Amino acid sequence: MLISDVLAKKGTKVFKILQVKTVMDAITGMASFKVGAVLVVDEKDGVLGIFTERDVTRILAAGGAAVLQDPVGKHMTKNPMTCSKEDDDSAVLALMSKNRFRHMPVLDNGTLLGIVSIRDVVSQRLERAEFEAEAMRAYVTAG
Ligand code: AMP
Repeated sequence: MLISDVLAKKGTKVFKILQVKTVMDAITGMASFKVGAVLVVDEKDGVLGIFTERDVTRILAAGGAAVLQDPVGKHMTKNPMTCSKEDDDSAVLALMSKNRFRHMPVLDNGTLLGIVSIRDVVSQRLERAEFEAEAMRAYVTAG
């Protein structure tokens, strides 16, 4: 399965934020979009970084509530690893697992197409495995 298949099902909506916005803005947006990550972009939608719920935990533990007013650009992970829509989902899954993060922005020649999470990839692989098992059962019982 390709990442384009994952995006086709999941959709291409991405929560994005400018780096000058505050950590509090990022958290509020993540809560209302019901997502665990935000992409930090410049005015032309170029990806500068990623900021996730894991970063929220880490910076709050280290700096207390004052960090909520910091610009999100101060705490994002710069130049995140990205993938393309032609990448194989299992290769992307392996990369996320090896590098210990759960989100991967999808770019096409620098243009942001969406973001996939480990959960998106795993749940679609499970669906596909169930579909194939069902098709196999139907084939065997029909014989
Ligand atoms: P996550 O497991 O996705 O919540 O992220 C764990 C840590 O990895 C956080 O510090 C994120 O900012 C960072 N991170 C998330 N996704 C990526 C990525 N695609 N490339 C590099 N770092 C990332």
